[in-house]
Amino acid sequence: MESHKQVVERLRGAFRSGVTLPIHFRLTQLEAMLSMLEDNEAQILEALHEDLAKPKFEAVLSEIHMVVNDLCYTISNLHTWMQPIYVGTNLATMLDDCFIRREPLGVVLIIGAWNYPLQLIVLPLIGAIAAGKCAILKPSEISQSTEKLLAELIPKYLSKDCYAVVCGGPEETKSLLENRYDHIFYTGSQSVARCILQAAAVHLTPVTLELGGKCPCLLYGHLDMKAAAKRLVWAKFFNVGQSCVAPDYVLCTAETRDLLLPFIKEALESFYGSEPQQSQDLGRIVTDRHWNRLVELLKRSEGKVVIGGQSVKEEKYIAPTVVVDVQESDALMQEEIFGPILPILTIKSLDEGINFINEREKPLALYVFSDESPIVTTVLERTSSGGFCSNDGIVHMSLPGLPFGGVGASGMGSYHGRWGFETFSHKRSCMLRGWVLERVNVLRNPPYKESNLSW
Ligand code: NAD
Repeated sequence: MESHKQVVERLRGAFRSGVTLPIHFRLTQLEAMLSMLEDNEAQILEALHEDLAKPKFEAVLSEIHMVVNDLCYTISNLHTWMQPIYVGTNLATMLDDCFIRREPLGVVLIIGAWNYPLQLIVLPLIGAIAAGKCAILKPSEISQSTEKLLAELIPKYLSKDCYAVVCGGPEETKSLLENRYDHIFYTGSQSVARCILQAAAVHLTPVTLELGGKCPCLLYGHLDMKAAAKRLVWAKFFNVGQSCVAPDYVLCTAETRDLLLPFIKEALESFYGSEPQQSQDLGRIVTDRHWNRLVELLKRSEGKVVIGGQSVKEEKYIAPTVVVDVQESDALMQEEIFGPILPILTIKSLDEGINFINEREKPLALYVFSDESPIVTTVLERTSSGGFCSNDGIVHMSLPGLPFGGVGASGMGSYHGRWGFETFSHKRSCMLRGWVLERVNVLRNPPYKESNLSW
């Protein structure tokens, strides 16, 4: 068996051979990835079902379609993205070629999380391949079936010399991190991100951190409560709330809350029926450990459960749950929920809502629901977050034209579409000078004349 060090060295050797540089190679690999997804769709859906009981519709939409869209977009645009960008010159450089060239740096380590186990490995890999890098992929060990399937499929479809999958948990990841990379791309929790940064510091390796946190959803002013409730419920309970961009909590006035709650109830019933446990369209919590954490959070909450609250350990089931009368100090407000529990907190004014958001870590996504566009604009202008979406949730991340990433504690760097290509490319400043105009250099050479500075 190859050691992690040997895998890194093998990939570095392939990178140094220059095989990944031609556009033809990159496109061939991206097209092979498309075939991998098309040929194995049934197996992929089965693995995602085994890991998270993902409903087929959710799996196809968020893991397959999203990746295929990004792949097609990248394949169609890669030639344009790879072109050098020429920059303006001045009098002293007017005869030179001055441009920015995108170059791959070498080998990247991509570490994924379990909640979208295919997407979170394959989407960054698209950017790495497009940029001409070699990559080691470390899927989450928690979503075991998808991890195994990726380890089987990637070497079957992509160049074994340039891309490798390493399976395992924290111990394997720590051992991988002892090696030197040219970039580390990590998706996961803020606490593990600190270990990643420490390991990266040893070799001064650049990192991209795709983290989480608590994404607020602020409802304010006039709005269509029925539509708002449906969109909120869809975004929150998609993947049973196990989305890094799921609305984590709602902020609204007490009047809005009272008007909204019956519509949330109605939306939940229309989506999952009166017995959500029987619904084929609601997945499950990933492991017993994660289930325990959520059930414990709910027990410790001092809020009032007004919808749901039921849980069944054997099935890792937690009903879509809404909790009101939640205070800032509540257990539900101390960590990212990452499950099907939606606390509603009340505010008295828009300013109070904005201040509440700004007093906390910058979220990965911020949602504002309102019919009144000045309210949407005010929230947009007075807050900061990785992404922003009005009157809906999650959907902003489906566009490959928009960079996806956090800010502050929710992450650093971004990807999707062109942004993945840019993240994995070094922007090399190039000035190609000739020998003409040598006579002009007399102006800059010693013995200096201050009068020449006016040039
Ligand atoms: P996880 O447990 O799957 O861990 C992520 C990766 O880190 C795994 O590959 C795991 O093997 C590795 N790992 C775990 N402990 C480690 C350690 N001590 N040292 C080195 N490596 C270690 O996933 P998670 O961390 O539970 O993920 C959930 C978090 O990820 C949430 O906060 C969520 O919001 C965030 N997330 C963010 C995005 C995004 O795109 N921004 C996407 C999905 C999830």
